[in-house]
Amino acid sequence: MPELAYLNGKIMPIAEAMVPAEDRGYNFGDAVYEYVASYNGKLFCLEPHLDRLERSMGELAFVPLPRDMVRDAILDLFAKALIPRAGIYLQISRGVAPRDHAYPPAGTPLQFFMTIRPVREKPPELREKGASAITVTDLRWGRCDIKTVQLLPNCMAKQQALEAGVFDAIFVSAEGVVREGTSSNLFIAKNGHLITHPLTPQILPGITRQVVMDICRDEGITVEERYYDRSELASADEAFLTGTVTEVLALARIDGRPVGSGAVGPLGKRIYRCLLDRIKDLSSAP
Ligand code: PMP
Repeated sequence: MPELAYLNGKIMPIAEAMVPAEDRGYNFGDAVYEYVASYNGKLFCLEPHLDRLERSMGELAFVPLPRDMVRDAILDLFAKALIPRAGIYLQISRGVAPRDHAYPPAGTPLQFFMTIRPVREKPPELREKGASAITVTDLRWGRCDIKTVQLLPNCMAKQQALEAGVFDAIFVSAEGVVREGTSSNLFIAKNGHLITHPLTPQILPGITRQVVMDICRDEGITVEERYYDRSELASADEAFLTGTVTEVLALARIDGRPVGSGAVGPLGKRIYRCLLDRIKDLSSAP
């Protein structure tokens, strides 16, 4: 079960994967990424991740990479690593060129890098008891819908959360609109239905968010996609984060106050069970 890297067509130990210092991802954050996880030897939601990758690259006017080539590279790395519960990190930069804000000349090859490692699971206790979070001002740029590697505000907010002794931070705009977590989307529950931020340039269109929306449609749970503020967040019956590794993670406390009863709520629990069922169906498929 080796941890491996892929760099522009070659597979190697991660420590041997070297990118030139003038890579635009390194100089400008001019790179996009994805993170795909597997369960029991099967990749979960690979095609939606490829859709989002293509969209991110398109929004930044990257030369498109053939989808089949990207998929084959992912599947080849996955097959070689033989890690049943793997996380594949994939990063594509606009390539290597002398430092200049303007895009490099046409024909500059993109840099395509991946790593594969076992997923670091969330502690079971966090899932049983729910996590705590703080709210922070959203300092990010105006295109959070593009999955770029420019994550410094996310890193700063996560660090602020850890220093406050909690699991994560929730971004709230300067005008008071609740956005999402540092690496997850956020849903709140009120009177038996859910509310989540709509898909706008201010949040990432999470793959797990979409899976949760699909689950809710199948289960007859209403989801309102609309803006909500700190006071609605504070008076929610439940709140939960969604993400590829986060899955569905209940928030028990926000800014030091309990969310609802302060325990993992019934809607979050039910939706998480449905997500695990979908994962089980995938793992048992041929
Ligand atoms: N929002 C942000 C800011 C994220 O970084 C992530 C994870 N990449 C998500 C939401 C959740 O996305 P996904 O469900 O595709 O992992």
